[in-house]
Amino acid sequence: MRRWSRRGHGSTRPTPDGPILPPLDIAICGAGPAGLAAALFLHRAGHRVTVFERFETARPLGSGLILQPTGLTVLGALGLLPAMLELGSRIERLHGADAATGRTVLDVRYASGRNGRFGLAVHRAALFGVLHRAVEAAGLSIETGRDVDALDETGRKPRLVYAGGTRTVSFDLVVDASGARSRLKRHVAVASEPRALAYGAFWASLAWRGGFDPHALSQRYRQASVMIGVMPIGRVAVGETDQAAFFWSLKPDDAAAVQARGLDAWKDRVRSLWPETEACLGQIDGFEQLTLARYGHHTLHRPAGRRLAVIGDAAHSTSPQLGQGANMALLDAAALAHALASTDDIADALARYCQARRLHVRLFQALSLAFTPFYQSDSRLVPLLRDTLVSSVARVPPAPAILAALVSGMLADPLRRIGLAEPDWSVVAAATAAPAPDRPARP
Ligand SMILES: Cc1cc2nc3c(=O)[nH]c(=O)nc-3n(C[C@H](O)[C@H](O)[C@H](O)COP(=O)(O)OP(=O)(O)OC[C@H]3O[C@@H](n4cnc5c(N)ncnc54)[C@H](O)[C@@H]3O)c2cc1C
Repeated sequence: MRRWSRRGHGSTRPTPDGPILPPLDIAICGAGPAGLAAALFLHRAGHRVTVFERFETARPLGSGLILQPTGLTVLGALGLLPAMLELGSRIERLHGADAATGRTVLDVRYASGRNGRFGLAVHRAALFGVLHRAVEAAGLSIETGRDVDALDETGRKPRLVYAGGTRTVSFDLVVDASGARSRLKRHVAVASEPRALAYGAFWASLAWRGGFDPHALSQRYRQASVMIGVMPIGRVAVGETDQAAFFWSLKPDDAAAVQARGLDAWKDRVRSLWPETEACLGQIDGFEQLTLARYGHHTLHRPAGRRLAVIGDAAHSTSPQLGQGANMALLDAAALAHALASTDDIADALARYCQARRLHVRLFQALSLAFTPFYQSDSRLVPLLRDTLVSSVARVPPAPAILAALVSGMLADPLRRIGLAEPDWSVVAAATAAPAPDRPARP
């Protein structure tokens, strides 16, 4: 009989008193946040896990992201919260102002919500490093250079098919964590592909030079066609210097024209809208330092097939407007492990996984889609509403608390139904936040 286990910062993972599944052979496709977290949860539950990753060396792509209280709770359940807190930069506030007038039009403070919540901005490589080191320490096998193309479902149990046609041995369960462009998700009953969103962004990781709120994602807007952002993202490894994520929103279709006009013309435009970004622009010597991110939106109707669970961006991708994607990926991983620990039948476990995540995923996918035109679109009316009506209403209680719960990812109670409990963040912060000498003390 398995028992309740208590790991990390007050999070609990229930296991049933009834019949349980025997140890399963599980293939996880993709070594992103979803795949690595799932590997850890499932290994700790006693299953035999192999991770398959297309890159020769597993590595993260991109700049920074915000770990919300949801994602932080999952990392706490894995015992990885202290390592993450040591690297990330604590975010208290999301602040946006109109570039022309300087008027604040977005001001969401985590403290308006419950429980001393905060976000943690991290470099993707820092999140990847913490998860990857834990996977290595657990002795889990990651097969790299494996571009998984499809499933062979002709037998009783599925086998992976690599691009080129080679097949693996069979597995009791396959977990598709291969991101938004997953090909395995074709094996669910109703598959969907991401619909390209009009706007994407140039992203860069730069040295943190100060001049911006060290505990905020700071943004400037001009209508909804321009959005510039600067966010402290901490460091990749202990002892390294602190970094900032810098982004400039644009349509991917316009990127070539922007590049053709030249770096100086682009910098002049950014500088004219937000002179303080000079500290960032001075570090950019060429467009090759900027990664063009394209965003797409899709939500699988049911993220499971026969002996197949789909988690993370493979199951639901969207624009990063609400900053939930990696957090939802971590929640999915925890939910799948919780479901597998709750029953002695794989099909039943997959049904439970889908049910546990359904409401939260659908709500946040819908909200992300609804919010995106307010910040990334050609509309003139929607940003006008944002800057007038919405920004005024957002200051009137209970709106600040609702917005804080929204950015925290905590609407629709995603934790209880997957067997996790949110810690008291003020206790977590007090236990772990002795600031390093080169870092400002928390307010
Ligand atoms: C610019 C930008 C900013 C973002 N900001 C935030 C934010 O602030 N907060 C937040 O929570 N989220 C943010 N997101 C979203 C977040 O990055 C994703 O939701 C998250 O990375 C999803 O994790 P995942 O593990 O599901 O997929 P991924 O991170 O995409 O990982 C998928 C893995 O699968 C591997 N893979 C792919 N295909 C195959 C194959 N055929 N065979 C084997 N392996 C394969 C890939 O190489 C990769 O390692 C942002 C995204 C972008 C683009």
